[in-house]
Amino acid sequence: MHAWRAPRAFDGHRFLPGGATVLVEGERIVGVEPADFAVPHDCPVTAYDATLLPGLVDAHVHLVSDGSVGALERVGVQDDDAIDAQVARSLAAQAAAGVTTVRDLGDRGYRTLPFRDAPGPATPRVVAAGPPITTPGGHCHYLGGEAATDAELTAAVHERADRGVDLVKVMAGGGFLTPGSDMIGAQFAVEALRLVVVTAHDRGLPVLAHAHSAVAIEVALAAGVDGIEHFTGVTADGAVLSDDLLERTAAAGVVVDPTMGNDPAVLALLPTPPPAVVEIMARVGLDIEAFFAQRYVDVGRMRSHGVRVVPGVDAGAAPTKAHGNAWRAVLDLATAGWPLAEALAAGTSGAADACGLAAETGVLRPGLAADLLVVDGDLAADPTALGRPVEVMVRGVPLSA
Ligand SMILES: [Zn+2]
Repeated sequence: MHAWRAPRAFDGHRFLPGGATVLVEGERIVGVEPADFAVPHDCPVTAYDATLLPGLVDAHVHLVSDGSVGALERVGVQDDDAIDAQVARSLAAQAAAGVTTVRDLGDRGYRTLPFRDAPGPATPRVVAAGPPITTPGGHCHYLGGEAATDAELTAAVHERADRGVDLVKVMAGGGFLTPGSDMIGAQFAVEALRLVVVTAHDRGLPVLAHAHSAVAIEVALAAGVDGIEHFTGVTADGAVLSDDLLERTAAAGVVVDPTMGNDPAVLALLPTPPPAVVEIMARVGLDIEAFFAQRYVDVGRMRSHGVRVVPGVDAGAAPTKAHGNAWRAVLDLATAGWPLAEALAAGTSGAADACGLAAETGVLRPGLAADLLVVDGDLAADPTALGRPVEVMVRGVPLSA
């Protein structure tokens, strides 16, 4: 047994006024006590003048992709060795930033599954969807998940279940990264998407839908999906999320991931977005600055309407979305007006729960995995401390070990 101690702590739900001494045995937390707790005499203690909290969860990553322009599309023509090398680099970057669990929402060839099943020491836990299901030529078709007819859609779900995925990801609408995909309409009819949902649920798998457009969000809700990624509300007149839509989303219990967490410094360095993105944005009446300003307003409205939100990044999908940006996505919730403790809870216990891991990680509690993050300073007083990891532990193994 060994212990990590800090005078300040957040337990996944709230700040602990007395700090914490977290006792760890093997992969598990075996005790959570105040910072002044007298540990057994044979228990070594590592003390930090810092803040201790559960490791972060990034609810939306693409481990196969390095975040450079066009990277996700290039994955479609890379060999398995190159893909596996990138998955390993992505996981290392995530761990270094204090992320101890990632939910991968789109790989190619199920390459993320071996990393889930045989993780290296201090390597983040992977929850994996495999290749996303999409229409022929549709969003992210290059990842290999095209399906059109009912028979193909059913077969696609069964294939994923047989391969052992944790969930099914489906592209309900078009995406900025796929020129020519439909950014205003939907890729699937409600009946087709409902077939995916029913088939997946029969196999015990939740379904997450990618949806930027207001139409695709409506289709996904009507089809009964469990979660919606992006949830931008793109229409021909700009991005609009009506109060009514937010109310119905909250009532349905659908988990929304607004995929923020962009690095503003990288955003500022980018000369212009890729031409295809500029063209799509212009077509739907959005400019980048107005788009981001509206996102903060909308994420604040999601909270006030009672929508359940998890902060995923879409890490690896773009230069602004580095692997390890989860802390930025958490702070974006705070910027949008969320109390800091609620934002932190969304990125730890809340996201772990949304990944089906409430009994495994996301909280400082005896019995759960020892997934810990130590950040420099007083996190309650200085939220940016979340971006200054001092030490990380995954399943009981410190990153520095
Ligand atoms: Zn994505």
